[in-house]
Amino acid sequence: MDGSIGTSTRAVSSVPTSSKGGARRGMAEVFRPGRVLRPSTKGLPEDVRGHNRSLVLQTLYGSKRQSRADIARTTRLTRVSVSDLVAELIEEGLVIEIGTREHSGPGKPATLLDINRKGFQIVGIDLSGSLSFRGAVLDLDGEVLERAEVALHGATGAEAKIRVVELTGQLLSLTRAPVLGVGIGSPGVVDAAGVVLRAPNLGWRSEPLQAELSARFDVPVVVGNDARAAVLAEHSFGGADGDMMLIRVGQGVGSGLLLNGSLLFGSSFAAGEIGHTLVGTNGGAECACGKFGCLETWLAVPRLVGRIAAAEAEVGERSSRDVAEPILRDAGRHLGIALAPVVAALNIAEIVLSGPEDLLDGPLAEATIETIRARTMTEFHGNLHLRMTTLGADIVIRGAAVMVLSGQLGVS
Ligand SMILES: [Zn+2]
Repeated sequence: MDGSIGTSTRAVSSVPTSSKGGARRGMAEVFRPGRVLRPSTKGLPEDVRGHNRSLVLQTLYGSKRQSRADIARTTRLTRVSVSDLVAELIEEGLVIEIGTREHSGPGKPATLLDINRKGFQIVGIDLSGSLSFRGAVLDLDGEVLERAEVALHGATGAEAKIRVVELTGQLLSLTRAPVLGVGIGSPGVVDAAGVVLRAPNLGWRSEPLQAELSARFDVPVVVGNDARAAVLAEHSFGGADGDMMLIRVGQGVGSGLLLNGSLLFGSSFAAGEIGHTLVGTNGGAECACGKFGCLETWLAVPRLVGRIAAAEAEVGERSSRDVAEPILRDAGRHLGIALAPVVAALNIAEIVLSGPEDLLDGPLAEATIETIRARTMTEFHGNLHLRMTTLGADIVIRGAAVMVLSGQLGVS
């Protein structure tokens, strides 16, 4: 596999109308490193048509209700090219005409177009939970229509994979329109072909999840790292700009990076895997990986919850903010120490935190930004903004849907 999210034949099989060869190339747009998520200029000669299709679809996806002339203006494609591409997209059922624009001037009123938002559905799945796998059926706007969940009961390895198959099957049976694809956010290191190279918590090593699921269900499937999926959700639905770092705090700690409008994958697909870097030089608690003082030992949810509970037991008070605050500040300080060189190296302007709000929002987030500010040059990094995600617990599910949108239609 080459990182394409399913073969082009499969991609078209989910789109009912067209069988034109020219239409297929665009549908098989790959979800791969280095790809700019929202193309804004004309394509390179090698795949002009596929690129221009994405341009038209992205224009409609972002602004709805556009005429062919509007699209030509925005994309700088010729009106002939736009009409030609739109005809093709209408034939495939991806674009629909939604009436005419009211106007008072002379001439024929312009016909307005939109992406066929209700005509297709997406399945999005989050494998990062410790107790269950969760998923949803979503529309093309990323709104959740149906939900399903399977309990893990401690399953790992092949057992955990059976649960993924079960959940995928359940969700596909809940869809009420042709399925554009299945997106899955998995913990661990995932390559561009959707092979989970390593996911210690699930006991997976070199699991070709994407290829197996797409063969089994005969739909396009895209599997990616959960933090990277979360970044895509922020990018499409959370109002993030082209540059951001998203930190996910849960069972472990991971991050996703969006730079110049592209997701960062790294040389071994492990970009953003900051959980097992040591913070400081004076020890710390032992980590599951065998080292002492990894970022996860300071920040992972089970560690924080355990530390706060122990401190509360000691002073005989429950849920006292005074007891939790120094523990949360300490965690935030260690996160800030880990992030400062990253912020400096990449000159990132925005950091988004995703995880339990009761732990992250407040002293922990404040200590993180204070520490980064104290350790970087104000002149260059003073405008750094740190905030909680607004997408809550569905961030990976919605991001998985964006992986499908981006892979299949080139929109995000
Ligand atoms: Zn570690």
